[in-house]
Amino acid sequence: MVVVAGVVVILSPLLVVVLLVAVVASAVDDAADTDSMYAAAGNVSYSIDGSTFVDVDANDNAWGGYSNGQIPPGELCVLAAAPQHRARCDASEAFARMASEFRAAFGNDIAVTDAYRSYAEQVATKRAKGYLAATPGYSNHGWGLAFDLGGGINDYGSVQYAWMKSNGHRFGFFHPTWAEPSSPDYAKSEPWHWQYVPTAAEAAAQATHGAPAGGGTPDANRELGRSMATSRGWTAGEWTCLERLWTGESGWNHRADNPSSSAYGIPQSLPGSKMAAAGDDWETNPATQITWGMAYIADRYGTPCKALAAWTSRSPHWY
Ligand SMILES: [Zn+2]
Repeated sequence: MVVVAGVVVILSPLLVVVLLVAVVASAVDDAADTDSMYAAAGNVSYSIDGSTFVDVDANDNAWGGYSNGQIPPGELCVLAAAPQHRARCDASEAFARMASEFRAAFGNDIAVTDAYRSYAEQVATKRAKGYLAATPGYSNHGWGLAFDLGGGINDYGSVQYAWMKSNGHRFGFFHPTWAEPSSPDYAKSEPWHWQYVPTAAEAAAQATHGAPAGGGTPDANRELGRSMATSRGWTAGEWTCLERLWTGESGWNHRADNPSSSAYGIPQSLPGSKMAAAGDDWETNPATQITWGMAYIADRYGTPCKALAAWTSRSPHWY
């Protein structure tokens, strides 16, 4: 930023504004969003294979007592297939299982352009895209429930798009009517924009997959970790080291799936299946992962602060 600031001072203020707008425009690219544009005409409900979807105004999707685009990062979960993006945790979990089937079909991960979008990012999108973009504060991206997908899905004629149309609904992902090619406003046809609606079938799948015995969101997993560290007899100082270590490894997301290795979960066990030593539910239960990770640290380093020191000294970091 220092270098950029050095350049900026020799430019006129107008040119700076033009450059900034150009940067924002290229960053959002095809991620214009018209969410809820047609809600005023009445919610549209339709059914696919027994799953009912309703295009609702994004405001009706409020959750957690938060405002649109103002959700604390710790209440969202990283997308395993695209760790730079976050979504509501149940959507992230459903997305992970859908992404796994997609990978089996095509040999690569689903490309994600955008998922949760903060209020500030919605303002930037609106500035770049004008009437095509949702009014800031009214996007389903601001609830962590909308996904802009690429890698072929952003093309109505592709096999990847066809796959999403045939399979997405099984996991709760649907393509809203306003984004169809037959959209009342063709300029708003968006093959890339998908929304998550937890269907009864999806909720049942997540229940049988194993509900976390405590924890769930990264913040809840942290709280669980803190109490488990105390129970183990580790001091507040040791807890601080553990908190930092696993924030660096996984952000305390029990679904964290390293895209370039088979490391998995809160402690990023390599491979994830090693955690089976602590319980059969190692894929889904934060408590099982934390139990295993604490035992690993105690066995290999003695304490979390010694593990953190080793982690910090290595590049790339590992422990
Ligand atoms: Zn979108």
